[in-house]
Amino acid sequence: TTFSALGLSPDVLAAVDGLGYDEPTPVQAQAIPYALEGRDLLAAAQTGTGKTAAFLLPALSRLGHAARQQGPLMLVVTPTRELAQQIADVCSAIEKRTHHRSATVVGGVGYEPQKAALRRGCDVLVATPGRLVDLIEQGVADLSGVGVLVIDEADRMLDMGFLPAMRKIVGQTPADRQTMLFSATLDEGSIGGIRDLVSNPAIVEI
Ligand code: AMP
Repeated sequence: TTFSALGLSPDVLAAVDGLGYDEPTPVQAQAIPYALEGRDLLAAAQTGTGKTAAFLLPALSRLGHAARQQGPLMLVVTPTRELAQQIADVCSAIEKRTHHRSATVVGGVGYEPQKAALRRGCDVLVATPGRLVDLIEQGVADLSGVGVLVIDEADRMLDMGFLPAMRKIVGQTPADRQTMLFSATLDEGSIGGIRDLVSNPAIVEI
């Protein structure tokens, strides 16, 4: 299949071109049509399969030119600073075409630039759980407008003890959001603790 057959917006297709992707990877070919319909998703995919674009392309395509609010419309939660940076980099490349604005919130660095970015407002927020919880508790991160939630590397997040943080974060988002959960494995033992965060999900296994 081709990217243009998947139903992505013209801006996002231009962004795909800019990224130099010729054809969708298997996880992209399977996940993008469901994601564009607004379905919840449970996807088994490891890093290196193209999963970042599998959630960013359809979500940014669906956000269209929605007027930016203070708080993000899309939230991506990922376990490590390195993964957050990789996702933010792909996001920035796509946003050159779609004109969305993203912000990144991770631990181990100063609070002020992140707080300033949240105050300026963003469409997409990429975050690691601990720092995001801090910013929620400080009243700086408003997740009430999040229509699309991505839980990246869910199995790893649970392994790292982020279940309470995940619960706190998801509790701040609207119940009728779209949720896409990516994990290396979809075993009950790996993601059973958060299986309830998706409703009637489409299953993608590559
Ligand atoms: P990810 O699994 O999201 O970490 O992506 C792994 C790598 O694959 C990244 O370097 C992407 O830039 C690259 N990539 C993602 N989708 C495609 C595609 N459709 N064609 C070629 N490369 C891709």
